[in-house]
Amino acid sequence: MANRQTTTLDPQPATVDYPASWYAASEPAPPPQAGLRGAHHTDVCILGAGYTGLSTALALAEAGYRVTLLEAQRIGWGASGRNGGQAIVGYGCEQDTLETLLGADDARQLFDFSRDGMRLLRERIARHGIACDWRDGHAHVPLNQRQERALRAGIVHMAEHYDYPLQWWDRDRLRQELASDRYRGAMFDAASGHLHPLAYAFGLARAARAAGVRIHEHSPVIRLERGTRPTMHTADGSVSADFAVIAGNAWLRGIAPELESRIMPVGTYIGASAPLGEARARALIRNDMAVADCNWALDYYRLSRDHRLLFGGRASYSALPPPRLASAMTRRMHAVFPQLRDIAMDYVWGGYVDISRNRAPHWGRLTPNLYFAQGFSGHGVAATGLAGSVIAEAIAGQSQRLDLFARIPHQPFPGGRLLRTPLLVAAMSWYRLRDALW
Ligand SMILES: Cc1cc2nc3c(=O)[nH]c(=O)nc-3n(C[C@H](O)[C@H](O)[C@H](O)COP(=O)(O)OP(=O)(O)OC[C@H]3O[C@@H](n4cnc5c(N)ncnc54)[C@H](O)[C@@H]3O)c2cc1C
Repeated sequence: MANRQTTTLDPQPATVDYPASWYAASEPAPPPQAGLRGAHHTDVCILGAGYTGLSTALALAEAGYRVTLLEAQRIGWGASGRNGGQAIVGYGCEQDTLETLLGADDARQLFDFSRDGMRLLRERIARHGIACDWRDGHAHVPLNQRQERALRAGIVHMAEHYDYPLQWWDRDRLRQELASDRYRGAMFDAASGHLHPLAYAFGLARAARAAGVRIHEHSPVIRLERGTRPTMHTADGSVSADFAVIAGNAWLRGIAPELESRIMPVGTYIGASAPLGEARARALIRNDMAVADCNWALDYYRLSRDHRLLFGGRASYSALPPPRLASAMTRRMHAVFPQLRDIAMDYVWGGYVDISRNRAPHWGRLTPNLYFAQGFSGHGVAATGLAGSVIAEAIAGQSQRLDLFARIPHQPFPGGRLLRTPLLVAAMSWYRLRDALW
């Protein structure tokens, strides 16, 4: 089934369903949840039914709270239903960024929390029977000597200071698993892995609803009233609550300007190749791991349940996909796997990644009863579950973990909402040049 169409990343007035992707095509969507009508009161109201909102809702409902979740589009419509599916321990920034910002002890604690997040992800998949094609194993692969040196030093650092086992594979060892000659070796992480992102979002939503969460789709929050009883307003209703949580990622559009100025929405893209057949797919990635290279504008890929190669890469700084996206993605795939020269992309789609300036997670409170989590910086598949638990326990009165995250300093992007994008384009050109030269 060929579907090379890509739509703009932003919702269109007539958008009622999921953007065309292999994920949407391979996972039937549950029936839509009714939109919000009338005025309601609850314990906690959450904006956004991506992994962050769903995980927070699930953790709170399991702790006995009444929770209402308002989603502008559909469950998992945002980054959570479109991403690369690579579930990786750690955060969007390197640990040394956290060491510099908070000191070694706090950086260690934050890393241990991220390991908890990975355990939670696996545990939820098992406990709620979420059929999302989980596979173990992730490799970071260096393209040049600088990247190899950094990975090898990172393995030693993580073993000595974080007690975290990563393996170095030389070129020959990697070649046993990955049929590409492009890389100098790999840093292999057995604890990370990959999954079907939209199936995972649907599974979280099913578990949340079973625990009592009320989810309203097609219910964009157009105004958030702050105060002792924060209230979320939609066109046809409102929900007041004792606590509110903002989990809207890159689409907030004026709901919380102090959050929006601290993330940059960067459009990134993924293609799904035509089916390769089982034997040919297995020959590409024998151990079925996920792979990401070390460039800033990186390639990342893995196999699908129906033996396609899901290949991510490319970035853009507007809501429109880059020109000739499908052919550009196909060329990138062929550069890594020249043996796929006869294979094209059946699907190409994109979404916004919420990048913070230091790429560290941006989680905390805006007021004593208004919580948020954003700034996952392309590293949210596992970390969003952790964010949900950390916010839920803070609402229940245990805020030690959230307080540590809230100590990470975050600066707004220079240029405000209008100028931040051109400034990022300039910065990205530098990073691409650096990838090419070093
Ligand atoms: C192409 C792509 C590839 C990626 N690859 C990876 C990867 O391989 N590994 C990884 O770890 N991470 C990856 N990420 C990042 C990861 O997907 C995100 O960090 C994660 O999904 C964020 O979840 P979220 O719930 O915070 O945001 P989202 O999933 O974007 O959910 C936010 C939701 O809020 C809703 N919303 C916004 N405003 C309103 C409003 N006013 N009213 C009501 N609802 C509203 C939106 O409609 C949306 O559904 C990728 C992201 C993209 C786009």
